[in-house]
Order: sequence, then structure tokens, then C-alpha cells
Amino acid sequence: MFDVIVIGAGLSGLQAAYSAQKEGLSVVVVEARDRVGGKVWSVPLVSNRGRADLGAAWINDTLQPKVWAYCRQFGLDVIKQRLEGNAIMQNEDGSRIVFPFGITPDFSDEQKTNLETIRDHIQAVSLRKEQPLVIDDGISLDAYVAKLGANDKTRKMVNLWARVMHGVESTEESAAWFIDYCRTNHGLLAIRADNQTGGQYLRLTGGAQQIADGLASLVGHENIQLSSPILSITDAKSCVTVTTTAGKSISGKKCIVSIPSTLYRDLKFSPALPPAVERVADGTKLGHYNKAIVCYDTPWWRKLGYNGFAMSFTGPVIVARDTSVDESRMYSLTCFVNGAEGEKWAKLYPHQRRAVVLEQLATLYDVSEDAEVYRPIEFFDQIWKHELYSKGALAPITAIGQYTEYKTICGRPVGNLHFVGTEFSGHWKGYMEGALVSGELGATEVAQSLNRQPVRAAF
Ligand SMILES: Cc1cc2nc3c(=O)[nH]c(=O)nc-3n(C[C@H](O)[C@H](O)[C@H](O)COP(=O)(O)OP(=O)(O)OC[C@H]3O[C@@H](n4cnc5c(N)ncnc54)[C@H](O)[C@@H]3O)c2cc1C
Repeated sequence: MFDVIVIGAGLSGLQAAYSAQKEGLSVVVVEARDRVGGKVWSVPLVSNRGRADLGAAWINDTLQPKVWAYCRQFGLDVIKQRLEGNAIMQNEDGSRIVFPFGITPDFSDEQKTNLETIRDHIQAVSLRKEQPLVIDDGISLDAYVAKLGANDKTRKMVNLWARVMHGVESTEESAAWFIDYCRTNHGLLAIRADNQTGGQYLRLTGGAQQIADGLASLVGHENIQLSSPILSITDAKSCVTVTTTAGKSISGKKCIVSIPSTLYRDLKFSPALPPAVERVADGTKLGHYNKAIVCYDTPWWRKLGYNGFAMSFTGPVIVARDTSVDESRMYSLTCFVNGAEGEKWAKLYPHQRRAVVLEQLATLYDVSEDAEVYRPIEFFDQIWKHELYSKGALAPITAIGQYTEYKTICGRPVGNLHFVGTEFSGHWKGYMEGALVSGELGATEVAQSLNRQPVRAAF
């Protein structure tokens, strides 16, 4: 019998396993997919020009110390997000505003003032060290900003934030959830920033998957069982037995569950999870969070004076960034097709998905039919909703009105079961850093409970 069974070999599961091993515990990691990494997945370009990050990509060296420590430990090269040049904002009528990157697009003075007032308000509340408020949990982010006096343009921009950050509409998440998310991530502005103050500062030239691969090597590949989806978890008090879809059973003293809470409903827990946990977890949803990565022979947008950053109210692409690695001649625009636009896009055939993205890029960059935009050398699209073992991204979003309850009950131990995942992190929730933070804490919890020290059990 193992000391600990870890379900899931995403970053939180791998970190939990490694930290548990460092506590002297025997560990087995059981992963549904045929690879480690979960929502971190870098795939090679056919042209041999590097790898495309279909999931997580960006990191920060000062604000995200755990991710950065692994980059250093594994000797991984990073590249700064390219900022030089103009950015583009596409209005709801399809028209373009070209503006110097880093400032508010040139809306009318009234629109700019209104947007900046709301932005500054959210930034201020998201920097307050307080628990999410029940009153903010009862209303959607959209209703919250409307109450603050947001005009139409500002509400559209707030909706764009919800799409970009969480893959949902601003009517679908509570203000408390949104604000608390920003709170764990150094505030709204840090989440949105592409320089050293924010979440989109650096990328790994060889792809973010290297972090997962490095961690898996530390855990030991012999301790990770791939292609083993777990179907049921039975906590018999003396031990926990997990059973795969193929009928294989594994027993351990403790089990760390690292899958997103939205996926708990896919597992059979015996005994069932406490009704409140089940109800709140059942109420969570994952966003439509998709990437189209368009690779070119040259970074043609730079010659036109752009830095590759674009935002759009029309979609399907709602935000795009230059994700090139110049030294390997990997020139790419990574396009996020999220929220309601992502949901529609995901229903198209692959050739249609490609066509609408290229059409929109041509419109955004105002180029003609014979332009290089229509001649990508490679095109990746990744729809995380279609992934059986993710069913969306970034992190589970609670139903409106359930976040404050979720915060007090979800992620707490239940019998011999412990729960980790980026969603439970108090630092960089939703990000790779958050997954590492949560994984480490989960292992500490397990080590303490095996030593019979008190833990913060809720049930
Ligand atoms: C498109 C996209 C862009 C992103 N961009 C960034 C970024 O730039 N920077 C950043 O820091 N983060 C980013 N993220 C978020 C980051 O990828 C996640 O926060 C992090 O990887 C989550 O790790 P996790 O371990 O909590 O969950 P997961 O990665 O979801 O791990 C859960 C694991 O459990 C496995 N599993 C599920 N069900 C079962 C089962 N029944 N049995 C066994 N195993 C199972 C899954 O296969 C998976 O491996 C992005 C994510 C996406 C999708």
C-alpha cells in the first residue's frame, strides 16, 4: 500500500507528489492522459522551429517564485514578451483603433474616463486584504460594474476581461469571484500586464511543458501511471482505494485529488462527498478558453509597425499576442477565442475555424487578400472544452452566490481525501504558480495528518 495516491499529473498533482516524497512518503501518481502536464501542453512545430504552447505559456520571474525556481533549476531559457510597436482595438462595429501599446485605446474622452474609473475601482478593491463579500457574490460582475455607473463601452470592456481571463461572459461570474481572483494575483492590473509587473511577462523558449516534464523527472517516471483514468474513489477509513476505468485498483493511506472541482461529478466517491461540497462543486463551470496559434515564415505584422497585441469586441479572436521565438524563426500570433465567441467557434469545422481566424487577422491588420496573413506555415487550434479530462479552462468558476460558501468548504480534507489544484491557491489562482502552491500545501496537509497532527479539516 502506498502512503499517498495522487490523482492527476498536472502541475498541482506533480508538485503534491514531489513534496510528499520529500516528506519521506511513498507516492504513486495516476493520470488519465498519456502525458503529464494537464493544462500545460507544448507541441512541436512540423517545421522544427520550436514548440507551440496550447495551454499555459506566460510566467513572471519575480511575482511567481515557484515557477521561476523550477525554470532556474531545470536551466530553462525564457524570452520577454515583445512590447514595441502599436496595438489594435477592434470596436463592436468592426472598425479599428490603432494605439501605442500600454495605454487605453482612443475611445471618446467620456468613455475613457468611465472605463478608467471602473478599472481603478476594481484594482483598489482587489488589493484589499479581505474575504470576498456575500453582497458581491450575489451579483454578476456585469451587474456590479453597472451599479458603479459603467457605461456601455465599459461594460463591453469588462466583458472582454471576463472572456480573456476566464473564458466566460461577465454575466456568468459573480463580482466576488472576479475580485477575489484578482486579489490572489496581485490585482487586476498585474493580471492584464505584459511587462515585468504582470502575468504575461516571460515565456519559455522551449515551451511551458518543460516545467511539467522536469517535475515528472523529479517525481520519477516509474511512480507515474499514465493513461489510467480514475473512475471511483473509496475511502474505507483504514485506506483509500482508487479504481481506473480499466478496473485496476490501487490502495493508499491517503489520496490527493488534483482534478478541477468541476470534474468531481465524473468520479464516484464512496462515501459520497459531503452534500454541501457536492452541491457547490456541481455548480461550478469551466470557461470556453481556446487558442488558435498561427505560425508564419516572417513576423510580417512588425514590419507594419505592430507589436502583435490586439483586442476585439467582435471576435471570434478576442485577444492576440506575438508569441514568436525569433532565435528559432518561430513567428507566431497566439489568438484567444474565448467566452461566447469561443463557444460558437468550437462548433465550426477545423477548416472553418482556421478561415475565420485568418479573415479576422486580415481585418485587424488591414491587409489585402494576397498578404502573408493568409499564408501561415502552421496553424494550431486547441479547444479545452473538448478535452475529456479538462472540459474547459482556466479554473472552475462558482455559480453566482456560491463563491463565499465554496471558499469555506471546497479544497478542505474529507476523511482521507485531500484536494489540490490551482483553483484552491491563495497566490496566482488559475495559473501554473497557483497549481504549484496548492500542490505543496496539499502534501504538507497529508504529511501532517499521517503524523496525526491537526489539519484544517472542515468535515
Ligand atoms: C489556454 C490556456 C492558457 C493558459 N495560460 C496560462 C499562462 O499563460 N500562465 C499560467 O501560469 N497559466 C496559464 N494557464 C493555466 C494553467 O495551465 C493552469 O492553471 C495549471 O496548469 C493548472 O494545473 P492543475 O494541476 O491545477 O490542473 P490540471 O492541469 O487540469 O491538472 C489536472 C490533471 O488531472 C488529470 N485528470 C483529470 N481527470 C482525471 C481522472 N478521472 N483520472 C486521472 N487523472 C485525471 C488531467 O488529465 C490533468 O493532468 C493556461 C491554461 C490554458 C488552458
